Amino acid sequence: IEFVRAAQLQGDEEPSSGPPLSAQAQQKESIQAVRRSLPVFPFREELLTAIANHQVLIIEGETGSGKTTQIPQYLFEEGYTKKGMKIACTQPRRVAAMSVAARVAREMGVKLGNEVGYSIRFEDCTSERTVLRYMTDGMLLREFLSEPDLASYSVVMVDEAHERTLHTDILFGLIKDVARFRPELKVLVASATLDTARFSAFFDDAPVFRIPGRRFPVDIFYTKAPEADYLEACVVSVLQIHVTQPPGDILVFLTGQEEIEAACEMLQDRCRRLGSKIRELLVLPIYANLPSDMQARIFQPTPPGARKVVVATNIAETSLTIEGIIYVLDPGFCKQKSYNPRTGMESLTVTPCSKASANQRAGRAGRVAAGKCFRLYTAWAYQHELEETTVPEIQRTSLGNVVLLLKSLGIHDLMHFDFLDPPPYETLLLALEQLYALGALNHLGELTTSGRKMAELPVDPMLSKMILASEKYSCSEEILTVAAMLSVNNSIFYRPKDKVVHADNARVNFFLPGGDHLVLLNVYTQWAESGYSSQWCYENFVQFRSMRRARDVREQLEGLLERVEVGLTSCQGDYVRVRKAITSGYFYHTARLTRSGYRTVKQQQTVFIHPNSSLFEQQPRWLLYHELVLTTKEFMRQVLEIESSWLLEVAPHYYKAKELEDPHAKKMPKKVGKTREELG
Ligand code: ADP
Ligand code: MG
Repeated sequence: IEFVRAAQLQGDEEPSSGPPLSAQAQQKESIQAVRRSLPVFPFREELLTAIANHQVLIIEGETGSGKTTQIPQYLFEEGYTKKGMKIACTQPRRVAAMSVAARVAREMGVKLGNEVGYSIRFEDCTSERTVLRYMTDGMLLREFLSEPDLASYSVVMVDEAHERTLHTDILFGLIKDVARFRPELKVLVASATLDTARFSAFFDDAPVFRIPGRRFPVDIFYTKAPEADYLEACVVSVLQIHVTQPPGDILVFLTGQEEIEAACEMLQDRCRRLGSKIRELLVLPIYANLPSDMQARIFQPTPPGARKVVVATNIAETSLTIEGIIYVLDPGFCKQKSYNPRTGMESLTVTPCSKASANQRAGRAGRVAAGKCFRLYTAWAYQHELEETTVPEIQRTSLGNVVLLLKSLGIHDLMHFDFLDPPPYETLLLALEQLYALGALNHLGELTTSGRKMAELPVDPMLSKMILASEKYSCSEEILTVAAMLSVNNSIFYRPKDKVVHADNARVNFFLPGGDHLVLLNVYTQWAESGYSSQWCYENFVQFRSMRRARDVREQLEGLLERVEVGLTSCQGDYVRVRKAITSGYFYHTARLTRSGYRTVKQQQTVFIHPNSSLFEQQPRWLLYHELVLTTKEFMRQVLEIESSWLLEVAPHYYKAKELEDPHAKKMPKKVGKTREELG
């Protein structure tokens, strides 16, 4: 692949004055010396004074300057956690919360989960003693439910504010309000060098504290012509860099787990084939569901003589800093949620990243020495095809979850909530309508008893509704499993390249008539019968880690059942009950087979069954889907066969008999709903 050098990202340091690679420095020096070497350290006193003098402080600093790991420790050392008060530091991403907490625990010489801990959905690694709490922004949002004034916190640091996730944006409004009647609460808003003026304006012109960065210049290269297959281009470019460029690690930005795993496999494969013709290349992935022992590996220093390539999602853009990166490879894409309030369809698509994002990525190459960034697109594309900045999530997502939460907090007038950027009016309206249809709100827009219960469960309203409905259909045991399995979505089956046929056969063996939700249930049930065995997973091409996670999630949901007054009951193999309970939550996500393929029932959108689905070949007349994913087409992922009459049964206020009529209906084949035993 041919690259042309087109521009340079200015640094504040001379290329030649680079310090020795700090990965090596880290090995030699003590952890305290490393702490003192971070850009934030010289500003420690000044920063603490500013925090003492102002209730709200915006902190701006280059990625890697020590905001996330150091500032909470400074506050701890300064006595902000006296009398059992806690410090919260929010992260938009689970992996970041875990990894940063682990790092800080190590720096403080304490066990993770004691003084320092993290709290992410379905995983709480904190204790009574935990005073430094790293948590996802979503978790802090849920804290408001149990402690609306955050009374046990002395400091709240909203970190990575520039990411503008939905939860961070909502936190802004809530925290601003709490700060008004808790003058002793300190609020810190930390961000990479983006958007700080807006944050300051939002918080009544709060002062901005700037931590000067240390950046080395980064040379930017573009491809001469657009690349058709960016994954292949990535792999080729990594090897090209490895063979032609001086030492220094490589960071590659891809969009998600599947892509990252594919790229890592391709890279390892080619390195193996090249054998001793090239130097050693360590290939390390990092994405949200990667288990923590694997996550830790990306931070380990590269052995002398070898080179490391980290293949990452957006997480490495600003949330995590990996030492020793000199080369960045940027295909220019990210996975983004988008939402169409007209149709109510949410989809996850691979889209070009923004210019701001591309520049953050390039910046990762200039942290320890002058670096290079290779963009797998043309200079023209950068100029003309990339948006300036990423649209805040609140403007491209469904709001059901957040609206339910705000309603539970007693915030009724959502149109006048203090939003940094308001969501589209139609999206808000649709969220209210959906919550009404799910029975969470009454016709006055007030929270119902059922709505209050739904808010108790840390899952989407539709999933909550499904769990609540399992009481009526006496199948909560099965529904809990389905809910847990859905939440570890798409990472259940394992499909190694050299055993594709075996893996696919193993998957098909789990198929049950009725659809994918029952397949998930089947996998889990058989695994449980095996005694939760890892050997069983191995033999059946099932990912043990995902299953273990599903088991954790299931246990936690089971623990919450009592709070929402659902008893533990089993359907004893009567899967129609399970399917009806699922339908009670997902009656919004329905499609019917027409002469021209599947159309969503209400909006008549064209959709397709995902080829991985167990129903791909059967094409049932009516179905519901868990989610839509837009790749080449709008694919429905995790689909379940239903009967149209069930829709009238579970959502009579939403469906009219007339819309469910089917002029060319023939009788449904009665093969569904049998137990595994009956099927042999
Ligand atoms: P910021 O929040 O300003 O981006 P951080 O506090 O995350 O900066 O990072 C400060 C330093 O700590 C960086 O040099 C980074 O490499 C290091 N660091 C962070 N997490 C880890 C980890 N898990 N292992 C090793 N080093 C880490
Ligand atoms: Mg940070």
